[in-house]
Amino acid sequence: MPYCPKCRAEFHEDVAICADCNLPLVAVLPVSTEDDDRGLEYLDLYLAPDNMEAENIKVLLQREDIPVLLKDRTCSALPMNIGELSGVTVAVAEQDRTKAKALLQEAIQDEYISPNGTFF
Ligand SMILES: [Zn+2]
Repeated sequence: MPYCPKCRAEFHEDVAICADCNLPLVAVLPVSTEDDDRGLEYLDLYLAPDNMEAENIKVLLQREDIPVLLKDRTCSALPMNIGELSGVTVAVAEQDRTKAKALLQEAIQDEYISPNGTFF
């Protein structure tokens, strides 16, 4: 039986394309990616003053098994670094947000990272 890889509907043998998703059907349904998808929703957590600090934070959080996404603001469409708009945004998955924030606050207290960043 063919399946749609997107909506996971099961189709009759002579159907080749899912009418809803407009996708070619597959013989075997791929392993569910729902768990992964949930982890891919990154929320801005912290604005680090520079890239070095952002990398430090990334290492710190990844050590606790928290996936981190860094978004460099300095290469945005805005004209050159305007004061507080420059920096690197540290984003983490929603379910890691509370833990990541606590870890960062701890790291600031321990002076592992500078207090120059901003929480969103
Ligand atoms: Zn479909």
